[in-house]
Amino acid sequence: MPAPESTSEHFFQSFGPHASKATGARLDPGSVPDRAVNTHCCFCGQQCGITLLVKDETVIGFEPRYDFPFNQGKLCPKGVKRYLQGAHQDRLLHAYERYLESPDGFRVTSYNEAIQRVAEAINRIQAEHGPQAFAVLTGASLTIEKAYLMGKFARVCLKTPYIDYNGRLCMVSAGAANKKALGIDRAANPMSDVLSAEVVWISGANIAECAPITTDYVWQARERGARVIVVDPRITPIARTCDLFLPVKPGRDIALFNGILQLMIENDWLDHEFIRDHTTGFEQLAASVQEWTPAHTAEVTGITEKAIRQAAEWWGTAKTSFLMHARGIEHHSHGVQNCLGAINIVLASGRIGREGCGYATITGQANGQGGREHGQKCDQLPGARDLSNPEHRAHVAAVWGVPPESLPEPGVDAYEIFRKIDKGEIKGLLSICFNPVISLPDNNFVRRMLEKLDFYVAIDFFLSETARYANVVLPGSLQEEDEGIITSTEGRVIKINPAVKSPGEARQDWRIIQDIAHALERPHGFTFESPREILNELRAASKGGIADYSGITYEKIEKQMGVFWPCPSDDHTGTPRLFEKGSWNPIAKGNGPFYFPDGRAHFVVAPYSPPTEVTDAEYPLILTTGRVVSHFLSGEQTRRIGPLLDQCPDPYIELHPELAARLGLADGDWATAESRRGSTTLRVKVVRSIRPDTIFIPYHWGGRKSANQLTIAAQDPISKIPEYKVCAARLRKAESDHAHN
Ligand code: SF4
Repeated sequence: MPAPESTSEHFFQSFGPHASKATGARLDPGSVPDRAVNTHCCFCGQQCGITLLVKDETVIGFEPRYDFPFNQGKLCPKGVKRYLQGAHQDRLLHAYERYLESPDGFRVTSYNEAIQRVAEAINRIQAEHGPQAFAVLTGASLTIEKAYLMGKFARVCLKTPYIDYNGRLCMVSAGAANKKALGIDRAANPMSDVLSAEVVWISGANIAECAPITTDYVWQARERGARVIVVDPRITPIARTCDLFLPVKPGRDIALFNGILQLMIENDWLDHEFIRDHTTGFEQLAASVQEWTPAHTAEVTGITEKAIRQAAEWWGTAKTSFLMHARGIEHHSHGVQNCLGAINIVLASGRIGREGCGYATITGQANGQGGREHGQKCDQLPGARDLSNPEHRAHVAAVWGVPPESLPEPGVDAYEIFRKIDKGEIKGLLSICFNPVISLPDNNFVRRMLEKLDFYVAIDFFLSETARYANVVLPGSLQEEDEGIITSTEGRVIKINPAVKSPGEARQDWRIIQDIAHALERPHGFTFESPREILNELRAASKGGIADYSGITYEKIEKQMGVFWPCPSDDHTGTPRLFEKGSWNPIAKGNGPFYFPDGRAHFVVAPYSPPTEVTDAEYPLILTTGRVVSHFLSGEQTRRIGPLLDQCPDPYIELHPELAARLGLADGDWATAESRRGSTTLRVKVVRSIRPDTIFIPYHWGGRKSANQLTIAAQDPISKIPEYKVCAARLRKAESDHAHN
């Protein structure tokens, strides 16, 4: 059903986004809170500790939480202002249904009637078209209890194979590469290992804006003498303080990693003993990188030969080191290959599984790590088990009290779900905490697919740009209205504590899902009374899996300030550093440090291939996208927080002065960026910190300001991550944004 475009003005009046400001008790320095709740920031995967101050069931402020070891009181701008999200004027207090006669396109309906309507639609669609005609899209901001419940809801209650999550847009390339090379998908080390590294290598990670607290670890390491190498097409804030900057052409990271490895081999900067005793496949890999001479690497990557040689020498000769990467190398149609290239230079150095010798992938969303371990991925069961593995199916089916054969086979990734809507194979959709109208590439297609659905129900706490297309909107819960666990970027499982009750008719998300199951008269397995009960079942379901949470309890988390998984028993304290001698490993069982039966890590040949869409005469520029420090992902939350919006009210097009001069553009001018899929007209920001062949647009906005109108829906063949970081574009001066926005 089309979104109520003709009623846009009324829609925005009713549902926002409006910008919250500190007023009333939040502004009054004399306000005395009723209570202080130790919990964590609701935004990124760093999961900084924070103490929320509560008065009259409203979060009115915060205090730094110095006792939490990861951030020790530090917060970024988003964390400092997150308290302005609660009691927001846009907060959904009721259920809504589409009603085109209403000026804003919706009308309030009772919660129970909305649930009944959802159940009737699911029953109707599944009776007419089969169980697989209804799909579920979920989010990596959900607690682990909720993520677990969503996977179970799809497989046991709806019996549909079609569930996937928005971590598909985030961590899956890193996860797939980690599993291929190391056998386990988790950051190998706690961030504290950065402090004793001689060299810190940061590839495709704008950590100062996207994972700001990690910046502090890097700077502390630098103060202790570490050399910092940053690889990025832009001189990001962390790059401004690094020792060596490698301005890679977008989409060419694997060429750089192969070139570094070639120099490590040529100069014998290898840990032969480690390679011999703990890995497989080195000879084949070594043969494959012979062609990556410094000259060839320089030609493909756009980095000077001198800088490549310097980076290889520093990396190759270090005694300790830490390599980290994020979306910059992962958001590619060969994102898995890029990550494998990074792992190859770590393994060749032998510097992993020891203090000061680390490797980490930086998660984006709050539960980017835990949200990809317990069954909301299309091919996965809890405990990072495999839905296509008969033993894994039997274990989880026994915990769920259903026959293994009743579990659907693996489904498809989130973007493919939209292609199946296009083909008419999927008719109904339930989404929770996923905003694909902004976050998926080529999002004009996504919009059309939402319009094509027979029935769409969205669960959220604000009426997002995507929920505008819903037939029914159910009011879910904010992070501070529920309890549960989340796994941070380090692999540390932490506890979110409830600070306030859900307002109006809003409900905790796990209650809403169970209400739907009951209205469908399919209550088996959906009778939990609390998140603690859900966790207890998850502990059993994950037991013996790679992501074993069976020894993790709320009490242990509170006592230890988090528990690093795997934690396989009540008396186990967790595993801060993977691959350490003697650490628990249910796959290798004493044969070696890595999570394969022989205990050996796998070197994997990672050949270079160019991005799916290369530049040409018609579209001569590379468009790359990313984040700014004051906004978070689709901006659904941060565009409603006044001070964060003030800091960055609108997207912009960043370009180099050389390119600006060629196009006759000055800082602040309007320009239209176009790709083969769409266009947007924004103001330009002329900066020396970007490659002259590349333009950058932050992607946190919707509608005609959305960068993802332009991006390409090409996906990595293994991880299915979209190629957000490279597509071909062109740019021209515009008189104003009126024609477009
Ligand atoms: S957004 Fe991330 S880095 Fe910033 S305070 Fe929150 S958890 Fe910490």
